[in-house]
Amino acid sequence: MLESLLSRIESKREELISFTQELVRIPTINPPGEDYLECAELLGNQLKKRGFSLLYERAHDVPGDSDRFSRHNVIARLEGKHSGPCVHFNGHLDVVVTGSGWTVDPFEGDVRDGKIYGRGTCDMKGGIAAAVIAIEAILEENIEFPGAIEISGTVDEETGGYGGVAFLAEKGFFSKPRVDHVIIPEPLNVDRVCLGHRGAWWAEVETLGRIAHGSMPFLGDSAIRHMSAFLELLEKRLFPKLDKKQTRMPVVPEGARKSTLNLQAIHGGEEETFDGFPSPCVADSCRLTLDRRFLIEEDIAEVKAEVIGLLDELAESRPNFKYNIKDIMEFLPTMTDADTPVVKSVSSAIQNILGKKAEHVISPGTYDQKHIARIGHLHDCIAYGPGILDLAHQPDEYIVIDDMVAAAKVMAMSTLDLLGVNS
Ligand SMILES: [Zn+2]
Repeated sequence: MLESLLSRIESKREELISFTQELVRIPTINPPGEDYLECAELLGNQLKKRGFSLLYERAHDVPGDSDRFSRHNVIARLEGKHSGPCVHFNGHLDVVVTGSGWTVDPFEGDVRDGKIYGRGTCDMKGGIAAAVIAIEAILEENIEFPGAIEISGTVDEETGGYGGVAFLAEKGFFSKPRVDHVIIPEPLNVDRVCLGHRGAWWAEVETLGRIAHGSMPFLGDSAIRHMSAFLELLEKRLFPKLDKKQTRMPVVPEGARKSTLNLQAIHGGEEETFDGFPSPCVADSCRLTLDRRFLIEEDIAEVKAEVIGLLDELAESRPNFKYNIKDIMEFLPTMTDADTPVVKSVSSAIQNILGKKAEHVISPGTYDQKHIARIGHLHDCIAYGPGILDLAHQPDEYIVIDDMVAAAKVMAMSTLDLLGVNS
């Protein structure tokens, strides 16, 4: 049975390419969240032809939702012959902006040298297409299975997933008894099982000053100079401390196997968008956006206290130092145990198909697994999909077709295994 299933997948290579192209040709750029409904319907209609029942769920009350940019998710479900577990594949439909530096049309899906090019090929429409082809092959082989298979296409992963997986998880779509095992085909490389991700805390720090004429700065109080005092403390005290925080999480690339902080944006004084000449003023406000990534060994309260502690220290020691800090968003780290069924099943399928031991990794950035773990309380969840992680969000993003075919085989084998079908 297995051999026939695998050659069936091999024979569906052209369909896999063309379905990936169809998905890529809908430019679901987020923000703002373009063409979600059209893309959800493309996925839904493909599965409806195979007997899946469909649910479209729009997230109305989330940031970004409007009639022009509506947040539509699709959940497709196919029941098996009798009761049993449910295996769910979840992919995000949104892609990030194209940016500059492309040498191909980002929304054409050109095929060249065994690769499909375009925004979202790697992250993660190629992975969604591989999951669809894997399940279609099982159905075409008339393999009977218990339980259910679900495939969902969700929105807004790139902006936190509030209108997508978080919204659906609140409604019970990612909890038992509805779902037992979840595979998210994010691009972590075809021979890797991704157990989870680091945590993230985004915050904005503002230092305050007093405006005055730029020729007499001593009459004012520069918010930019206050910010520079804070930056100096970060350099001297926080960055060296973070460098020393190593984790047992197997994060890739290895440089991310510790705590990190990115100073994402800084702005002080006059707006950058003014026309003509700048006017001479002392800056009364300076704002800094922090992107702190943290480890399973760290507590979020302690992560915040490290930054606030330095600010309070300045408030005591530096004359007129005043600040505000506000949270932008926060996500806790998550890591599935290596001995859960989905990890074991996908790892053994990788060994079978690729002839090598699956590498267990942790993603440096977050993805929708956090909502499934925290809101859905479902921990049998991983990311597994084709595509090279480093290519995500880059110009000339592509996916290797052979990797998609191999990943589809791994997905088909694991699905049967998790449903308890002997292949
Ligand atoms: Zn992604």
